[in-house]
Amino acid sequence: MKNLKIARVDIYKSDIPLKEPFVIAIMEVLASQSCFIRITTESGLYGMGEGNPYWAITGETQAINLAGAEDLARMLIGRDASDIEARVTDLQGFLPHNTTLRSAFDMALYDLLAKAAGLPLYAFLRGGRRVFWTDNTIGIGEPEYMAAKAVRFKEEGFQAIKAKLGTTVEPDIERIRKIREAIGPDLPIRTDANQGWDYNTAVRVLRAIEPFGVQYCEQPIAAWDYANLSRLREKTSIAIMADESLFDHHDAFKLAAGGCCDYFNIKLAKSGGIHTALKINAIGEAAGIPCMVGCMTETRLALTACAHLISARPNIRFADLDGHLFLKEDPITGGAEYKVGEIHLPETPGHGADVDPAFLERCECVSITSD
Ligand code: MG
Repeated sequence: MKNLKIARVDIYKSDIPLKEPFVIAIMEVLASQSCFIRITTESGLYGMGEGNPYWAITGETQAINLAGAEDLARMLIGRDASDIEARVTDLQGFLPHNTTLRSAFDMALYDLLAKAAGLPLYAFLRGGRRVFWTDNTIGIGEPEYMAAKAVRFKEEGFQAIKAKLGTTVEPDIERIRKIREAIGPDLPIRTDANQGWDYNTAVRVLRAIEPFGVQYCEQPIAAWDYANLSRLREKTSIAIMADESLFDHHDAFKLAAGGCCDYFNIKLAKSGGIHTALKINAIGEAAGIPCMVGCMTETRLALTACAHLISARPNIRFADLDGHLFLKEDPITGGAEYKVGEIHLPETPGHGADVDPAFLERCECVSITSD
């Protein structure tokens, strides 16, 4: 057994502008502001992770996470990376609410352990390699703008369109009407209100867009409002997917027990990483709730880790792994290959993605070592 005692943690501040502002009901994103975490063992093996905070969802910013990362790193130095159960407990116990930051450490640990085992991450997770596809997402804008973008995605070859909603009744209905008219009857349209509606607005919009072939709606109402999520399911034929209501396995259990949703949207940035994501999926599977894995605006590094998770668990039926398509730059080497929306995983040990050293040179870095 290799020596997997943690000797060093490097923390990188990554800033990549988006091609255009990404508007959702609760925030506007202009740049991908990730923290990259590299965890290196005494034997020299390392794993890479990434956390991309959406402040309105997890309460984390890049600055908060860079500061927290130093504390987590100091705590982990000298501890055994191979005991993932204990290390995830360490991370949760120290910063229980910084799920995106913790996901970067969790991802780096899984990368490291899969490399130590000589297995691609999907195999390390005891799953298989499968090819699947992601949708592509359109931020909130004028209905005509969103429809034109949907047509472009269709022409590029994407197999599903995701439209952001969550404003007011008529404009949101108009957005979906225009998109459906523009792309024709075949492509699934997925919608996401990001908590933007109250219960009555949600009922009105969802009923009105039922004829337009909507596959599901993510998080129509406030994250905390489990009771109305469950009532809403009785009012519309459109499937409801919990997103901001679902961070960890405790939420998953309560949502399933309350009959609150048809689908779970797992994001590593909310679950604190792969370890808890697996628990959420297991609860979903037990309750007959298929899952999606979604993303923030991460680079292809975090998205590759997500893709391994999807590949390894057939109950994860949908992929929304389009975040890096929004970025002006792709600084990742290796990793998942995108053939338009179709995702192909590498077979190298670990998640198989790394950050271009030339890009890292440009990033501010803090290194924590045992000395
Ligand atoms: Mg969502």
